[in-house]
Amino acid sequence: MIDVRKFYLNGEWVKPVSTQEFPILSPASEEQIGVTILGNEQDVNKAVAAAVEAFKSFSLTKKEERLQLLEKVLEITKDRFDDLAWAMTKEMGAPISMARDAQADSGVGHLEGFIHSLKQLVERETLSNGDILVREPIGVCGLITPWNWPINQIALKVIPVLATGCTCILKPSEHTPLSAQIYAEIIDEAGCPPGVFNLIQGDGPTVGAAMSAHKDIQMMSFTGSTRAGTDVSRRAADTVKRVTLELGGKSPNIVFSDCNLEKRVTESVKECFLNSGQSCDAPTRLLVEKSCYGEVLEIAKRAALSQKVADPTEEGDHIGPLFDKIQFDRVQNMIKVGIDEGAELLVGGTGRPSGFDKGWFVKPTIFSNVTNEMRIAHEEIFGPVLAIIAFDDEADAINIANDTPYGLAAYLQTDDMDRAERVASRLRAGAVHINGGGFNYGSPFGGFKQSGNGREGGKMGLEDFQEVKTLHFG
Ligand code: NDP
Repeated sequence: MIDVRKFYLNGEWVKPVSTQEFPILSPASEEQIGVTILGNEQDVNKAVAAAVEAFKSFSLTKKEERLQLLEKVLEITKDRFDDLAWAMTKEMGAPISMARDAQADSGVGHLEGFIHSLKQLVERETLSNGDILVREPIGVCGLITPWNWPINQIALKVIPVLATGCTCILKPSEHTPLSAQIYAEIIDEAGCPPGVFNLIQGDGPTVGAAMSAHKDIQMMSFTGSTRAGTDVSRRAADTVKRVTLELGGKSPNIVFSDCNLEKRVTESVKECFLNSGQSCDAPTRLLVEKSCYGEVLEIAKRAALSQKVADPTEEGDHIGPLFDKIQFDRVQNMIKVGIDEGAELLVGGTGRPSGFDKGWFVKPTIFSNVTNEMRIAHEEIFGPVLAIIAFDDEADAINIANDTPYGLAAYLQTDDMDRAERVASRLRAGAVHINGGGFNYGSPFGGFKQSGNGREGGKMGLEDFQEVKTLHFG
């Protein structure tokens, strides 16, 4: 049984005040593999007190000292790479090859991106009017991360804290405490001063809510559902905290008939199913030009039927289970909603894939003949479920693409680069991926509209954790 019952506070592994245990379940076997503790408000207060004290000295450190700390964290992250990957395979069911190549890789990639950006970051400059502009750390930060990309999200929040001279309290999802514990061990081994980084396991309504309302926390950085993100903002309002949010998405993927359909559609389907569809920027609405609609359905169906589902501990490019029963039930319900709404089930459906009688495995599913008014087209499903919608022309595609409360990402498939630029400029989304172009570490990531605010990664991801001070000399 994996024991995650200690919190990392003020540079030490301590027994929490709370004694409320929470089981860690394997999503593949449904068996209990470990135990953690759900912290309470007193645990939060202890962590905040440590972070407040540590801020007094860590906020004054020179950039060179912080770069040295980050270089050490990088070295140890590389040493613990396999431990991180296996932790995520066990706790949230990421298939081990993907857990290494994408999930754990993000811990290294974002860190390298931030080191590069910190070197470029100007912390003091003279304005043309003679005033001096200084960038300072914002203060104590509350970091809340979800279960779908645990280390990706932790790195995107914890590294900027260390890089800018802030201090923090991290609350990972209680469903993925294991990778967070290993991350804390990495920070500890790197020699981070006590109190700069604190880890509390716990749930959103207790620990997350206490952090959001705490008077000594100056900034909340949250990733998760729009529902929980707005709750964090509301609670943070009384103390006028800065709140950065990375929330949901329902990203459109526009397929024009002039692209290499076989390649682009096959890869689009695989991308939608990656991480079993549990990615905020997954291309979940495939918008298809009417002139190639029939051909696209055939290619998409072949791609979905070839999508292997297997145990996460096996090597390979299969997908694994969803992270928990809660998510399995949500996805099953949305597949049923799609059928009831009259969408055509092209592949998949409700129930587990054949060969599975336990674990939160779902069938890779595609709906065709979807209209953008259907719930499956505008609600985030967070499972391997693709909705295919036909469009008439470019203007129609842009309208459908933007007809969503979200604006995290958009995808375009076309061989006409003038069209790609034209359409990209009209899409209300924080990122546009053209012909399979992937995210590069060091670039900003974040959304328009209800997908959030602020940007994570690279230079902008550092600046979000800074305040600006102007010095006026007489
Ligand atoms: P949540 O947003 O509830 O969970 C994400 C994180 O927020 C967890 O650490 C969670 O803790 C915490 N949290 C929850 N409620 C609050 C609160 N009131 N105050 C502070 N923190 C809170 O997502 P769910 O796990 O419930 O998933 C629901 C849906 O959200 C998914 O189906 C998906 O659509 C979307 N989602 C989007 C993500 C993204 O990357 N943008 C990531 C995860 C989910 P706890 O686990 O205790 O609830």
